[in-house]
Amino acid sequence: MSAGLVQAAYIIAAVFFIMSLAGLSKQESARAGNYYGIAGMAIALLATIFGPHSSGIAWILLAMVIGGGIGIHLARKVEMTEMPELVAILHSFVGMAAVLVGYNSLIDAPILTTHAEHMIHLVEVYIGVFIGAVTFTGSIVAFGKLRGVISSSPLNLPHKHKLNLAAIVVSALLMKWYLGSDGGLLPLFLMTLIAFAFGYHLVASIGGADMPVVVSMLNSYSGWAAAAAGFMLANDLLIVTGALVGSSGAILSYIMCKAMNRSFISVIAGGFGQEVAVSTGDEEQGEHRESSAEEVAEMLKNSKSVIITPGYGMAVAQAQYPVHEITEKLRAQGIEVRFGIHPVAGRLPGHMNVLLAEAKVPYDIVLEMDEINDDFPETDTVLVIGANDTVNPAALDDPTSPIAGMPVLEVWNAQNVVVFKRSMNTGYAGVQNPLFFKENSSMLFGDAKESCMKIIEHL
Ligand code: NDP
Repeated sequence: MSAGLVQAAYIIAAVFFIMSLAGLSKQESARAGNYYGIAGMAIALLATIFGPHSSGIAWILLAMVIGGGIGIHLARKVEMTEMPELVAILHSFVGMAAVLVGYNSLIDAPILTTHAEHMIHLVEVYIGVFIGAVTFTGSIVAFGKLRGVISSSPLNLPHKHKLNLAAIVVSALLMKWYLGSDGGLLPLFLMTLIAFAFGYHLVASIGGADMPVVVSMLNSYSGWAAAAAGFMLANDLLIVTGALVGSSGAILSYIMCKAMNRSFISVIAGGFGQEVAVSTGDEEQGEHRESSAEEVAEMLKNSKSVIITPGYGMAVAQAQYPVHEITEKLRAQGIEVRFGIHPVAGRLPGHMNVLLAEAKVPYDIVLEMDEINDDFPETDTVLVIGANDTVNPAALDDPTSPIAGMPVLEVWNAQNVVVFKRSMNTGYAGVQNPLFFKENSSMLFGDAKESCMKIIEHL
């Protein structure tokens, strides 16, 4: 394949990637968006493998078969609830790849004609390795926190912001040494170690409730790491693709910060400016009431309007199918049923929308938090299915709560609220929920799917 043909293929692939992003922004077109992305990637891979700069094609194909095999195996095995963990670990690969490409590009440097070009290349390598190393360890910590092997509460080292600042200053000084020594390996290596520690500390310092922003932020970093690798390899498509991922991840992080009423800067700086006394809400909250499936079915039958607010527990229980069945039964009886979706419900952006779409719940009754929050006072019954943090009134009432200031679904304004969960345990942010103790709330204990099936029997 000639160089011109490869460039043409890269442009077509880039257009496919842009169409993919556009498609993924709406549920109706998301499937097509995925296909565009696959097509773009297939074109990019073929053009690269059969392009003029590749050699040892047999080795590339062997690596692709092994990597592809592992990828297919993991993708088939992964549960929907484990998806964010998978995404986080994949980001770490991108970060490590950028580090390795950086070292390779320094050791096996391309022939550059001018001194300026050479210096630019050295800077590209340095920045690429820095971003890659931060992304690598940051993503591993995010993976650990999402999997529950690392505590979701923020790591609070003394002088944590000064430590972060010191890491940046020392890295800048090392860059001076590195450039002065015409690309010395030692300063690059020392900076890599600091960047690894910096990435670890940055994400470890962020509390559980801010994890959605962290995941999308690391997504963004992995894009910039890929773009940096593109500069080092002088590969235009990698630059374009990296920039697309980097900027879309940054936009998503910004949107999520706004949805959670968090300062973007404070989250990406590892919880900067959030050192207020935090309460876990563990103090005595009063008595809670329990309901049975039969009582809930009766309550639903006597309602005119019902809102269902799903959360992570619906995903764990795979309760979306019986939830859809309840919806259909109630709608057949002329009862209005709608869904209220919190922007960070579940464990990944759009998690609930995907589950409900999978169960074929019509899109027009699935509303965003902002669209439905004012309707709770006129609602007879709210079913909170495996949600916790996203319906926690402490976010609005308790300024010392770790989730203070986060907008929540104000379910307690309805006539009756039924909370489906297995115990009185806390949600992801680890804070107690005063909703469970309100007079108009009752708990339906048990696995959400089983509880829904029992309700269906009584409807
Ligand atoms: P939470 O994680 O706050 O709570 C889920 C609840 O589901 C738990 O309290 C649990 O209670 C219950 N549950 C678990 N399994 C079952 C089951 N089988 N049947 C019934 N109930 C079950 O959920 P939310 O969706 O309300 O909030 C999401 C949280 O996750 C937020 O804090 C958000 O910041 C965070 N997050 C979100 C991400 C995103 O991108 N959306 C990414 C990372 C984190 P019990 O054990 O008693 O059953």
